Amino acid sequence: MFVVTIEASTCEGCGECVDACPAQCLEMQDGKAVVLDGTDCLGCETCVTVCPSGSVTLQEL
Ligand code: SF4
Ligand code: SF4
Repeated sequence: MFVVTIEASTCEGCGECVDACPAQCLEMQDGKAVVLDGTDCLGCETCVTVCPSGSVTLQEL
C-alpha cells in the first residue's frame, strides 16, 4: 500500500495535487491540501510531481 503525506507547513495551497490526483485521495481544507482518503492511492506519484513546494511525499509500505 501507499502512504501519502502532505507537509502543511510548506504547502502553498495551490491545489495542484488535489486537482491532479486520479483517485480523489486529496482535498483542500482551510487553504491547505490534506489527505482525505489514502486507501485508494495508486502510487502514481502525480501529486509529488506537480507540487511546486515539495510538500508531498509518497511511501510504499
Ligand atoms: S500518488 Fe497518485 S493516486 Fe496517490 S495520492 Fe498522489 S496523485 Fe493520488
Ligand atoms: S501541490 Fe503542494 S503546494 Fe499545492 S496544494 Fe498540493 S501540497 Fe500544497
